[in-house]
Amino acid sequence: MTDRDVSRPNSTPSADDQHLVARYEHLLEITRQLNSTLDLGTLLNRIVRAATELVNTEQASILLLDPATGELRFEAASNLSGSAMTAIPVPMEGSLAGWVATHGEPEMVNDARSDSRWFANVDKTIKFTTRNLLAVPMKIKNEVIGVLEVINKNDDEKWTGDDIYTLTTLASQAAIAVQNARLFQQSDFIAEIVHELRTPLAALRASTALLMRANIPELRRAEMLRTMHEETERLTAMTTDFLDLARLESGRARLETSEFSVLELVQECVGLIREQAGERGIEIVVRGEDRRTEADRTKIKRVLLNLLTNAIKYNRDQGTIYCTVDRRDDLTAPCGLVVLIQDTGHGISPENQKHVFEKFYRVAATASQTGTGLGLSIARRIIEAHGCEMGLTSELNVGTTFYFTLPIAHAQPRREPPASAVFSRPKDPSQ
Ligand code: ADP
Repeated sequence: MTDRDVSRPNSTPSADDQHLVARYEHLLEITRQLNSTLDLGTLLNRIVRAATELVNTEQASILLLDPATGELRFEAASNLSGSAMTAIPVPMEGSLAGWVATHGEPEMVNDARSDSRWFANVDKTIKFTTRNLLAVPMKIKNEVIGVLEVINKNDDEKWTGDDIYTLTTLASQAAIAVQNARLFQQSDFIAEIVHELRTPLAALRASTALLMRANIPELRRAEMLRTMHEETERLTAMTTDFLDLARLESGRARLETSEFSVLELVQECVGLIREQAGERGIEIVVRGEDRRTEADRTKIKRVLLNLLTNAIKYNRDQGTIYCTVDRRDDLTAPCGLVVLIQDTGHGISPENQKHVFEKFYRVAATASQTGTGLGLSIARRIIEAHGCEMGLTSELNVGTTFYFTLPIAHAQPRREPPASAVFSRPKDPSQ
């Protein structure tokens, strides 16, 4: 690998020397800037911008390794729609980035299309043409955490040993900065958890202190015991949520995928919450086609139960919930199935819609309902761990529809799609 000597750049004294010195000074300056933020999104954007500047390319992107799925995932791109790209999981086998991550070595390609490892799916999805690219591993000690890619060198010049050296240096600095930002995210989360635990703990403390006084009337005593029981339940629910979210965030949550019918799972979940819906006269309608997916059934069940209980909690009395399983219009999409949970509740304002997937976020008007404000962030992370997406549409005083996508299983069902089914009938007010 003559032109890949990354330990030292070409140091022949020439007119290029000045240019090289300027480049390294720039690199040093960027390294300093990288360490000045702990916000992961800002940091990744800085890295891709720096990469295009340093080696003069049209585009740069960062793919980080997702330990849950073992796939690479786009986390930032310099000048293209990041959200379109994050939906595309990049396989370790059959992609150049995967090759770089597996071998832990840089790789350059002067004609991408003629390279059998080139993964054409990304270009197709974002309507871009990759002509040449250079990809280097982002390593911490010997562990690869991702891949930094630069694409289409300006004027289509050939990649040089100096490009590889510069990008490798940037990538190793970037890897450390990413790890620091991740550690900070975790410690931030712990601070939030402690803060959230304080409220139920304060209620329990006050109740126990009062109960220790002898002269409490029996009625008041019973009321306090009920409060204590409710707060204990809340603490239990919170700790489960905290653990689940921490696992998902750190990538320790493994997906145990199997093939199953989405409609059957929806029906199973509806069965579990039917009574709760019936108590408020809420009707639940399940409709759609019997599509099979390949996903972690237990985790998808958790997502569905969260959306369904929210659709009950935030619905009006005598309302309706429609659960639909459908195929997406874009048949080539990696997540070709869509599940919609639609309610007839109060809706969520556009401002609140921006925040409902954030940890601990609860819309003030609905705060009287029990909840931790973690359900939706857990649900979204579960869906994203499958490489799919989750979102919502809502109209105030009309209702809200949460949707998520799922991968289509390779083998499709043998059965005919069943007709719509009504699962929970409204309680007859006369009864
Ligand atoms: P929780 O329900 O435990 O508070 P979630 O993360 O599940 O937490 O939801 C976050 C917030 O989003 C809720 O507190 C509520 O304000 C709002 N929300 C969720 N689902 C709906 C819905 N179907 N209709 C209206 N508001 C909703």
